[in-house]
Amino acid sequence: MAGRNFLFVPGPTNVPDRIQRAMLVAMEDHRSSKFPELTRAVLAELKPVFRTTSGTPLVFPASGTGGWEAALTNTLSPGDKVLAARFGQFSHLWIDMVTRLGYRAEVVDCEWGEGTPVERFREILAADAAHEIKAVLATHNETATGVTSNVAEIRAALDATGHPALLFVDAVSSLASIDFRMDEWGVDICVSGSQKGLMLPAGLAIVCISPKAIEARARSTQPRCYFDFGDMMRANETGYFPYTPSLPMLYGLRESLRMLQEEGLENVFRRHARLAAGVRAAVTEGWNLRLCARHPKWHSNTVSAILVPEGVNGAQVIDIAFRRYNLALGAGLSKVAGKLFRIGHLGDLNELMLLGAIAGAEMAMLDAGVRIEPGSGVAAAQRYWRSPDAMRLNVPAADRLHAVA
Ligand code: PLP
Repeated sequence: MAGRNFLFVPGPTNVPDRIQRAMLVAMEDHRSSKFPELTRAVLAELKPVFRTTSGTPLVFPASGTGGWEAALTNTLSPGDKVLAARFGQFSHLWIDMVTRLGYRAEVVDCEWGEGTPVERFREILAADAAHEIKAVLATHNETATGVTSNVAEIRAALDATGHPALLFVDAVSSLASIDFRMDEWGVDICVSGSQKGLMLPAGLAIVCISPKAIEARARSTQPRCYFDFGDMMRANETGYFPYTPSLPMLYGLRESLRMLQEEGLENVFRRHARLAAGVRAAVTEGWNLRLCARHPKWHSNTVSAILVPEGVNGAQVIDIAFRRYNLALGAGLSKVAGKLFRIGHLGDLNELMLLGAIAGAEMAMLDAGVRIEPGSGVAAAQRYWRSPDAMRLNVPAADRLHAVA
């Protein structure tokens, strides 16, 4: 099909030309005396992205799922118990991994569209006088439903009950796009991946671990090898990796971190907030449809899951968008399959790119029989982006331009 494919799934996201160029490198000796410059630059520049000074960022050749496994197997021992809530496909899959690896999960099942039930967590933690729960799992941004949970409140629940459990956060679809604060929120392990806010291809599990997580590793009796934090930290200390790293991915990551630094993390968050609010205006004011997220406090700034009306198949909307209009929208996963489609609005993105996605979603919905007014979503998003509310989330145009390498 002529023209560009419009990639609006919530990861993988568009890889900026600048990062693609940085990845186009000849292979080199990863044991040379020069190599540590790259390792050290990447690991040092990751710290501000996690908002940490005391944490240790680690980069594994894997995807976010590998990061989940690394978090669990480095700190827990067989049979240990974790507390987690299930409110979407990704929070579900992490819980599934917990049980498949031989740990026990105390699961709070919520409606899909809700976020972490902090009050219920507080009650469970308070009742756990024997401190059987060794870790609390929190999916910061549930990509399947477009729901962002409040991690600071989960930390407050742990503190209020004096519970010593570790706090693990999945920030796969929030890091470098929604405010995340490792140190301030007392997060012990943050798990992320390369293919979302970091604007890279999939291929790196990027985790950050606290001193408390490092202590827990020393006590853990769980066998592990490839994802061992100890091997990685020892190699990284000398500027190397315990096995052959992917050079293009590391060069790409270094460029991505430079771009984030140039734009400024606060501006990156504001841009995502502004773009997300425009999409929500298109959905609720323009199309008169509902989001899967059940309360504004859970609205995600990186992905909107849009419920289609009864009698319409969301999968058909997605397929029409893809085949007819060269637009990739996110699917409804598992329990919400067919009931919604998702617009990913994270990474290297601006208003006009999103207007294309909104227009394409509109055309696909009209073709699939959804009764909306052509142009209504586009007009609502434009109205929002030109409003004083959006302007407050704006940054000077010059600051928004990525320097061209
Ligand atoms: N967690 C969340 C919130 C995700 O959105 C995803 C993937 O989209 C994952 C975990 C799994 O990550 P990966 O597909 O990189 O293994």
